[in-house]
Amino acid sequence: MKNFAYSQARSADAALSLWSLNPNSKFLGGGTNLVDLMREDIEQPDALVDVTGLSPAGIVELPDGGISIGAAVRNSAVANDRLIRERYPVLSQAILYGASGQIRNMATVGGNLMQRTRCYYFYDDAAKCNKRAPGSGCDALGGFNRMHAILGTSESCIATHPSDMCVALAALEATVRVTGPGGERSIPFGAFHRLPEDAPHFETDLKPDELITSIELPPLGFAKHSRYRKVRDRASYAFALVSVAAALEIMDGTIRNVRLALGGVAHKPWRAYQAEKVLTGSKAGIETFQRAAEAELAGARGYGYNNFKIELAKRTIVSVLSEMTEAEGAL
Ligand code: SF4
Repeated sequence: MKNFAYSQARSADAALSLWSLNPNSKFLGGGTNLVDLMREDIEQPDALVDVTGLSPAGIVELPDGGISIGAAVRNSAVANDRLIRERYPVLSQAILYGASGQIRNMATVGGNLMQRTRCYYFYDDAAKCNKRAPGSGCDALGGFNRMHAILGTSESCIATHPSDMCVALAALEATVRVTGPGGERSIPFGAFHRLPEDAPHFETDLKPDELITSIELPPLGFAKHSRYRKVRDRASYAFALVSVAAALEIMDGTIRNVRLALGGVAHKPWRAYQAEKVLTGSKAGIETFQRAAEAELAGARGYGYNNFKIELAKRTIVSVLSEMTEAEGAL
């Protein structure tokens, strides 16, 4: 690992000032991904600015009924928070399906958004990888790509985003609050992460000198009827093959409101707009859920080993929506 300078910031302004001393700096949250990447020499910052002492506000209710979560709040604190568990169970469940207890105790909310893909070729410096070395190629395209993406891919990269938490935040239409030399701004969650296109090394809308300060959840009454389903190779400590975050409101057998997002299938948490379009206003039932799943996966493409994910994603969508509908007593 390359030598680096380390400093701690006690405020967002101090963090930005420390960052500006060296433009090859990185903000450090729990370090559960960044430090691994530094050990592999994939990330080689000259300096780390530790921002885990920020976010004094923690998890607070907003005047409009939403909730603000400070960027330095630990993942386990979010998952176990009473308000989150009651109003946004999908978020609590998604976090608890990720990583291990020890990692969740270290990892921060801001860091979770910034974690990088676990594509094997990204970590192997003998492999071609456009994300690690732009323009070098992508060995995953013709390689062992069982974990790779089926939606929104490009010939440059078929990596997936590894976060579970972010899939729930995509379904909930969270907002990312950031600050930088140009002041504060808000980024809709759906615009925060990018698809690979021809530049997979650009992964988010965040500028290098900007710092995530909080995540805001909108007031969303029907989100109390929400859940997260993760399909993976083993029951714990594994990344998603496919995951589904869903919130559903059914009245008199008809779907009034729905939010759906998929994980493990794309370079970013994948909001399932096509499925939502089919579901909204339709009668809740297996036939509707199947139509919705077909619509969402119509544009999917497999790359060999991951072909199975297309059918798996469809079945997981149908299964989750069916279970939620049954739980509501509408099936
Ligand atoms: Fe690199 Fe993306 Fe290809 Fe993986 S899929 S090798 S991260 S370019």
